Amino acid sequence: MKTGSEPTRWSRGPSNGALAEALFELSEREPPGERRLALLKAGYAVLDSPGRGRRGVLDSSPPWLRPLLHQLATCPGPGALEAAVMRLGGGGTPRRRGSRERFLSRVEVDEALAEGPEDVLPSRLRGAFHWHTQASDGTVSLEAMARACLRRGASWAVVADHSRGLEVASGLDREGVALQRQRVLAWNHAHGADLRLFQGLEVEVLEDGTLDVPQPERLEVDCVLAAVHRQLDPDRDQTERLLRAVATPGVKVLAHPRGRLFHHRPGLRARWERVFATCAERGVAVEVNGFPRRQDLDWDLARLAADSGCAFLLASDAHAPRHLAFDAFACAIAVRAALPPSEVLNLRQAEDFASWLAGGVE
Ligand SMILES: [Zn+2]
Ligand SMILES: [Zn+2]
Repeated sequence: MKTGSEPTRWSRGPSNGALAEALFELSEREPPGERRLALLKAGYAVLDSPGRGRRGVLDSSPPWLRPLLHQLATCPGPGALEAAVMRLGGGGTPRRRGSRERFLSRVEVDEALAEGPEDVLPSRLRGAFHWHTQASDGTVSLEAMARACLRRGASWAVVADHSRGLEVASGLDREGVALQRQRVLAWNHAHGADLRLFQGLEVEVLEDGTLDVPQPERLEVDCVLAAVHRQLDPDRDQTERLLRAVATPGVKVLAHPRGRLFHHRPGLRARWERVFATCAERGVAVEVNGFPRRQDLDWDLARLAADSGCAFLLASDAHAPRHLAFDAFACAIAVRAALPPSEVLNLRQAEDFASWLAGGVE
């Protein structure tokens, strides 16, 4: 009954994370249909709710769900909540809890930011790292995203559209990369003093650890992010796949390392201390992806990466301007993991980030 590793505060009933988990567990006990969907929707609504007030969730739920929600929300402790789920769901054990562990609810993000050091607040980030445009699966143009970064107070930013090899998204081919390059240069010519743009590319790590973009093309962009989106079988150790990817010359960032997705897949399995040690050795930064359904790395793995000597990039993985605010989730994970601010590259000036990009092991 937990989404976080910290003890649940129960002063006013279950936390949003615990209440959402109860709703997800109940949804899994329903056959596919409207009831199941309503429980799922309520679970997501609670998870994303900015406060502990559940009025909005109650009002948007169908009448049959309201008394059930009320019952869960007034449980006096974790044991009572668990018993209520058993009673309401007719017994049995939940199946997919593993894919929902170590995710922060919106409320937990705000609590972490309020309690954490001021260094790692979203407003302190100079660099807006890893976002998408219409050139792949984002919703707006490069310039519109850059303006949105500027409005949020960034002084540099890294666009990271998908490469062409990614089947789930319409990625950039070599010509697309070159066209985007022109737009990045034009932006920097006109607005570079306010917001310096770097061209990244989110390339796919194939099953054997090679990348789906050949090296001559990778050399054309400022920042290569290696990422896994497919072949994420959690039963197979994938250390070698990741080691090969991060040891590839020119790779600067290991993006959302596990490839997990909330409620859908737990992400891949690897001997992370080996992966992170190689990242540290090769000067490859490890991403903390703040997209709420990813939250990848979680705080425990981020802590392990910090102990291995890695540098970090906090990412929103925004696909639309409003998603840029997802960097708050990455900051909250950084706070929980107690990442040293000196190793958070987003906190650096544009010139420092540029020299970090230019350096490294080849
Ligand atoms: Zn991705
Ligand atoms: Zn992405």
